Amino acid sequence: MSTSWYDHDAAARLRRTLDRFPRVPVAYLPTPLDDCPRLSDAVGGPRLLMKRDDLTGLAFGGNKARQFTFSLAPAVRDGCDVLVHGAAAQSNQSRQTAAAAAKLGMKAVVIIPREPRSYPVQGNLLLDHLLGAEVRYVFPEMAREAKQQAIDELKAQGHKPYETSSDGAILRAVAYVECVLELCDQLDRLDVIPSAVYVCSGVHTVVGLTVGLRAIGAPFRTVAISPYVGQDEEVRERLVPVGSECAATLDLDLTFSPDDFEVYCEYAKPDYGVLTKTGLEAIRVVARTEGILLDPSYTGKAMSGLIDHIQKGRFRKDETVVFVHTGGSPALFAYSAELFQ
Ligand SMILES: *Cc1c(COP(=O)(O)O)cnc(C)c1O
Repeated sequence: MSTSWYDHDAAARLRRTLDRFPRVPVAYLPTPLDDCPRLSDAVGGPRLLMKRDDLTGLAFGGNKARQFTFSLAPAVRDGCDVLVHGAAAQSNQSRQTAAAAAKLGMKAVVIIPREPRSYPVQGNLLLDHLLGAEVRYVFPEMAREAKQQAIDELKAQGHKPYETSSDGAILRAVAYVECVLELCDQLDRLDVIPSAVYVCSGVHTVVGLTVGLRAIGAPFRTVAISPYVGQDEEVRERLVPVGSECAATLDLDLTFSPDDFEVYCEYAKPDYGVLTKTGLEAIRVVARTEGILLDPSYTGKAMSGLIDHIQKGRFRKDETVVFVHTGGSPALFAYSAELFQ
């Protein structure tokens, strides 16, 4: 077995550092690493391995469950009794916040903007209700204010709220540093060195993977397909301080520049949460060759980016690419009109 492509001493040190962090067991880990030979054939690509973080459990899984194993530890430690989240109607994080609160015996409050995907009640939003979250519907432009208001109200009532996006945020990246070690073990067993790791991420997942790969001296990079429209350059600059904070949290002596991050915003166009033609094609080809379900807002677009890069000749057939499936499939049901064509 070739085990020399990364620094095993650095990986062992990182393992010991990570082991000092408290966890909240809300995810099934490790997640599988699946070979996708039929998908690879269909897209004329390199060998494709899929890291199945859609299978983390917790009410249909996803990357937030892995992130929460670390990021909810301060909530438990500090005796918080309400988890609060506010985002789009089909937020996977709201669903996983509601599920984590149920499992931890806490209350959940989710702020949901009234928008086309909030009615009929479907997908993630339906699950928020089933999981017992208090769902507060607000006008989209009031969402931020409504979240702060909910937090203030809860405090006034004697509750201890924890906001699952901002509180303990860097720990969400730390969780994906650990994912790197998990992935390396799996790649060692397959005796393969990939050329890149593709993932759909705005901030924390890509930062964690990037910091983890740098820390162990891996010879390949994370490529992030953003679910949000924006300027690649600006996003890469914004990731720098998060990378530094994540490294510092893990006592790693690493510095970052925008060049350490590879980000593509173009596949999110025309906007976040809008299904694209190539996203739909990606969802279909993955479903029909591997029996794996992607989602309209995140992983379908990320896969469309990977397929585009393959078609542009970025990878040879004898290379290997890892795609991290970050979850999101419950949102499919809120997009039936566009998906069923
Ligand atoms: C939230 C989410 C992401 C992005 O996560 P980051 O924390 O921004 O890295 C990607 N995919 C899915 C399915 C998500 O729900």
